[in-house]
This record gives sequence, structure tokens and C-alpha cells, in this order.
Amino acid sequence: MPAWAAPAATVAVVPPLSVFGYAQVQLLDGPFRRQFDHNHDLFLNLDEDALLKPFRQRMGLPAPGPDMGGWYDNADDFTPMDNFHAFIPGHTFGQYLSGLARAYAVTGSKPTQEKVHRLVRAYAETLDPTGKFYVDYRLPAYTYDKTSCGLIDAHEFAQCPDALDVEWRATQSVLPHLPEKALSRLEQRERPHKDVAYTFDETYTLPENFFLAYQRSGDSRYRDLAIRFIEKEYFDHLAEDHNVLPGEHAYSHVNALSSAMQSYLVLGDEKYLRAAQNGLRMVQEQSYATGGWGPDEAFVVPGQGLLDASLGGTHASFETPCGAYGHFKITRYLLRVTRDSRYGDSMERVLYNTIAGATPILADGTSFYYSDYNNSARKVHYKDKWPCCSGTFPQLTADYGISSYYKAQDGIYVNLFLPSRVSWSQNNTPVTLTQNTQYPKANTTQFDFALPHPETFTVFVRIPEWAGGKTILSVNGRRAENEITPGKFLALQRTWKDGDRVELELEMPLRLEAVDDQNPNRVALMHGPVALFAVGEIPAQVTRAQLLAAAVSSQSSDDWMVRTDAGVLTLRPFAAIMSEEYRLYQRVEG
Ligand SMILES: [Zn+2]
Repeated sequence: MPAWAAPAATVAVVPPLSVFGYAQVQLLDGPFRRQFDHNHDLFLNLDEDALLKPFRQRMGLPAPGPDMGGWYDNADDFTPMDNFHAFIPGHTFGQYLSGLARAYAVTGSKPTQEKVHRLVRAYAETLDPTGKFYVDYRLPAYTYDKTSCGLIDAHEFAQCPDALDVEWRATQSVLPHLPEKALSRLEQRERPHKDVAYTFDETYTLPENFFLAYQRSGDSRYRDLAIRFIEKEYFDHLAEDHNVLPGEHAYSHVNALSSAMQSYLVLGDEKYLRAAQNGLRMVQEQSYATGGWGPDEAFVVPGQGLLDASLGGTHASFETPCGAYGHFKITRYLLRVTRDSRYGDSMERVLYNTIAGATPILADGTSFYYSDYNNSARKVHYKDKWPCCSGTFPQLTADYGISSYYKAQDGIYVNLFLPSRVSWSQNNTPVTLTQNTQYPKANTTQFDFALPHPETFTVFVRIPEWAGGKTILSVNGRRAENEITPGKFLALQRTWKDGDRVELELEMPLRLEAVDDQNPNRVALMHGPVALFAVGEIPAQVTRAQLLAAAVSSQSSDDWMVRTDAGVLTLRPFAAIMSEEYRLYQRVEG
């Protein structure tokens, strides 16, 4: 059996739900398939010399090819908080590698696999045991963590035989440049540092990939490293339900919750599961109606109306590709462990309201970064090319498929309502489930089953917590007798046969969500999982009743119309917004 076929180390906890292989879930045509294809194509065509240039330069090797530009370059003009050119040379290399490895696993594209193998080999040539690359490097843990993810994925998903060996050499090269333990930003600031950017490193996100490297390789040195970098005190607080999020950097601390989950899975200590569950709940308690969080990339002190205050201040409301990637990752872990469908609700809210509306990465590295929820907001590109968000975007789009369905012993969990096809073996019977839907624009989705002979198993369908009482599920045109409970998976157990069809019709009531408890009259209009943003002329006064009487403007349009005393207010989903000004929250007068 080849080394990449199975994990080499056992873990303490095997979650009841597992992810499918990337190849088992195919997205069908639709906006999410197009996002995935765009990212796959763009990164497949990136210049390899340019990608390797900062690594070669810092090792004093010949470094042909163009500069990538933006954060990626190796240059000396970075000036903290002013000029971000050359902020973190080569930082996203591993994420592009990871995105390509996963895209290969989804598509089987040989040129993609070959590119991954070439990049791993060429990267290996830039490694030395002393880690010359990391001398005077601002965020060694950050870049190593992303590189490590790329190498693990190259091994697991693109069958790159050298990748694990390269991973160990990459690990040796960074170790002389890492602190003795995970350091918070406060602790980094208390230590001598050349400039403020040297206090931005994210050592506390390292355990997740160290634990994954341990599971891939069976090498217990990775397990020891993972344990060394667990931010124990921080997780102790979260496990005891102390909210220690305020002031912390948002994305990296949501990302750190995935390290808590790997700590739980590998070590078996339930404290880490509690930390991850409580931590995510605290994040959700200070999320916008879109599911996004962290204005100015930080968590706010709860209970002081600070989320509302952010609407009049920042335009940097939610770090979207990175935040959505981290959110998908932690909700996937928690859904698999707890089977609580509300983690799926949370995932789809982030999907439709944030990343679905991100503008595509351009070939020169121009990227979408912040979603803007300011009272006068617009979609803009980020000022610097190839930022962090250009690294997580291709990883996230490759993960859409595996986030949609999960495998259980007794059947399959349907989590996201995306046009897609999943194929698996149930009690040795090959089964294919094809999902066709225009959701969330339409309120229905349909699952068609193909299997060579009847087989008994359970299909668990997520019923969103917001679903109304008129939600209907039917099998082969007949209404199922199962009780429909919003906020739970509905279990359809039967002997399935070829051609069976399940239809789900969700009642999607309009509802209002206040920005925070201190500002109950600042509300966003929600339709199912979708937040509706006001565009165009915004009437001075609008009431709750008027917003809740919104109606679609026409069958073909994404727009909603609200009649007010001062004229018609138009609202549309984030994904349908182009360059026009928009507003997420409306002030209501009762
Ligand atoms: Zn980012």
C-alpha cells in the first residue's frame, strides 16, 4: 500500500462522521463550481520560478523569473503599517501548493499533479538545516505553517512521494527560529523585536498541521512539537467558558480552534473540544448577520455595542477568504464530532453571504480581502497583491465539495445544498446521490439516487434552524412522515433503490436580526441563510413591518423590494452586488 493511502498513526478519537475523498464529491455547474474552476486554472498557470523566487533569493541561489509583487516579494522596503510590499516573502507558497493538490484530488488533472510534484522538488532545493531562509524573517511560524499544510496535502492528495521527507527538512529548518512555546501577540510585544510586524507571528496555529503531519508520517516528533505549541492557558480559559477573545487577532484565533480540535482528536482530552465549541460560540455571538466576524481583524468586547459602532467606523469588517476558510474548517470538525446541524447552518451563512460575493483573484495577484459592512459600503480590491486571502481562497474553493456531505457508518449526511454529485460505497454497494438545486434563490433542492440494487441506509438531511413550519420533505413525490425539526438533521431511513428521489422544500421566512443586543433597532433583513443588503436610494424611514413585507422583484431577479412611505427600497444578496454602494443594516423605528 503506498504511503499516502492511509494515516500512519492512530488517534484517540474517531469522529462519527468522516469527510469524503475530494474525488468523491463533484460540484456541478453553478457559481461555486465556477469559483473553484477559476482558482484552479489561475494557480495552475502561475509562473513556477516566480513562486520559488523568494526562497531561492534568501538562500543565495540563482533566482530567475519575475517578482510576484505585493506581500510575496523578497525586498527591503517593507515599512510596518505603511508599506506592505515584501511583508512576508513566500508566505502563501504552501497554500497555493495545497490548493493545487486538493484541486488535483477533485479533478484528477495530470498537469496539476505534475506542477505540485515539480514545486515540491524545487522547494526542497532551497532548504538547509539551519533555516537560512528564516534569518531576519518576520513571521517564521506563519509561513512554515502554510508551507507545511501544502506539503502534507501534496503527499496526501497529489501522491507526491517526496513531500513527507521535504516536510521534515522544512520543519528542521524552521525550528531554530521558533520560540520555545506558542506566544500570544502580547507576549511577542513584551519580547525584544525589530519592528511591530515581528510581533504578528501565529505560533498558536501550529499544532493542527503538526498533528496532521504526525498522522501522515507516524513520526512522533511532530506530535511532540504539536503539544509544545498548544496555547494551553488560552484553551483552558475557553474550556471554562471565559471569553478571552476580545482584542485578539480574529482569523488566526478562529484558526487556532482547529488546533484545539486536533488536540482533542489526537490526545483525547475533552477540554480541547469544549474550548473549540465555546470559542466558536463566542465568535458567533459577535458575528454580523452575514456570519462574518472580527472588524479590523479583531474580536470586540461583548455587551458594549461595539459591533454596531464598527458600522460607522471601519470598512475592514470581515477578512473574507481567510475567515471563511477558517470558519469552514472549524465547523467541519465540530459537525463531524457532534453531528449538530447548526454548525452546517453557520457554514452556509458564511458561504452565501461572504465568500460567494468575493470578487475573483486576478492573474496579477489582485485579491478580494475585506467584506465591508460599513453604513456606506462598497466592494473593493485589496491594496496589495498576493495577500493572505489569495492563499486561503483556492484552498476553500477546493473544499466546497467535501464540506457538503459527510459519511457515517449507517449512511450519509447532506450538509450543504449545492448542485453536486457524491459517490460512495454503502455496505459494499456503490451509491451515487445527485443534488440539483438553485438554492438559496429557490427554496427547493432535489436528491436523485443511483445504485445497482436496493440497499438500506439512512440519509440525514440538514433542516436549518430558521426553517418555517411549512417545510416539506418528500420521497418519490410522497410526503415523508418524519417529523421536521428545524436545527436538526432529519433521518430518512429506508431501503433505497435506483431512481429514488428526495425533494426538500424549505419555508424560508423573512426575519430581522439586530447587529447586537445594545442596538435592537439596527437590523439586517434575512431570507433563509441569505442577508439582504440595501442598494440605491435608501429611504429615511423604514419599519420592521415594511422590511418583513419584502417581496422578490421578479422571478429572474435577485432583488427584493420594500415599500416605505418615502418610496421603494431595493435589497440584494452580497453575491449579486457589483460596484454599487450598499448597506447591510437598516435603522428601524419600531
Ligand atoms: Zn486573509
